[in-house]
Amino acid sequence: MKQQTQCETSLCRDLYTKTGYVFAKSPDEIAKMSGFLEVARLGSNENPYPPSPAVLKAAADALASANRYPDPKAESFTEAIHRHIYDSPVVTSGLGMDGVIETVIRALISPGDKVVVSTPTFSMYGIAAAAASAVVVNVPRLPDFSVDVDAFISEAKNAKLSFLCTPNNPTGTVTPVSDIEKILDSISGVLFLDNAYVEFCDADYLSLLKKYDNLIIGRTLSKVYGLAGLRVGYGFVPQWLEGPYHAAATPFTLNRVSEAAAVAALADESYRDNFIAHIRKWRSVFVKEIPYPVIPSGANFVLFDTVPLLSNDAMELFAKRGVLVRSCASFPGLGDTFVRVSIGDVWENERFLAAVKQL
Ligand SMILES: *Cc1c(COP(=O)(O)O)cnc(C)c1O
Repeated sequence: MKQQTQCETSLCRDLYTKTGYVFAKSPDEIAKMSGFLEVARLGSNENPYPPSPAVLKAAADALASANRYPDPKAESFTEAIHRHIYDSPVVTSGLGMDGVIETVIRALISPGDKVVVSTPTFSMYGIAAAAASAVVVNVPRLPDFSVDVDAFISEAKNAKLSFLCTPNNPTGTVTPVSDIEKILDSISGVLFLDNAYVEFCDADYLSLLKKYDNLIIGRTLSKVYGLAGLRVGYGFVPQWLEGPYHAAATPFTLNRVSEAAAVAALADESYRDNFIAHIRKWRSVFVKEIPYPVIPSGANFVLFDTVPLLSNDAMELFAKRGVLVRSCASFPGLGDTFVRVSIGDVWENERFLAAVKQL
């Protein structure tokens, strides 16, 4: 039996027996070890509020026709994006923006192609590019976590594909639109701009789509729209990529329930606007009250430095006080003293602030 297990493991790619996505620690584990009935879940940048009644009703109605395959073109979703977000060709993915990232890589990258990533950042770009046997080159940000534009350009100028996240996860850093323009003017390949948190900041990158045909903007309904559990992401891609993107994508992107919920969520502007106002208000409270250096953030989370306390130790201390935060020790290039905390419901924020003052 043991022999057989080893044999099966040896058939797998090293990539997947040794590495993979690092998830935030399960709140249930933390709850168990801390004895709290309810844990403040501030580790995954989720929206703490359930979808609105209109979204729940749309999803429930769609469930009644779950015996039928979904619309392969997700036309009602595309139309809702055109109506509520931006009028440009749209692509979708049933697996969130993560699915968009994987599909773009599948459409563009052959083994050995160069993929550039501005780090420290979200791990999916490197994981998905490595899965396609790309050569991944990380370009470190400057000490204040702004993008080192010249260093980025010098690597990205001959790369097939480059990734830049703004506001950046996990630092919250917003890259000025003028820096993105400078990059787009200087590279021959494609820039994937990850805008998972863009609704929480003031920068508007959508206008760049008119000017550049080497720009992809990835967005998601997981954060501001509160649909993380339904996996709805989308991308604005240039016209020339639309056909290859669909050819590379899995046959059905959204499912009936996620598409109906997404259409209803996009129409619910007051849910979105109230949540954005909540985030902006609490973000400034966090910046003021966290007694550690806090990195300026345009997202629904902030990053702070607990040095000399290690972030893994800080995470345990928070857990004992019923608060789940993200230790960023697993983000390469960030060191081991940074903690990322999401802005949650009022009681969660208050419990966090009480805990951070007693670390
Ligand atoms: C959350 C997140 C995503 C992915 O969101 P999906 O849930 O897959 O839509 C993409 N990029 C960044 C930076 C994120 O933090």
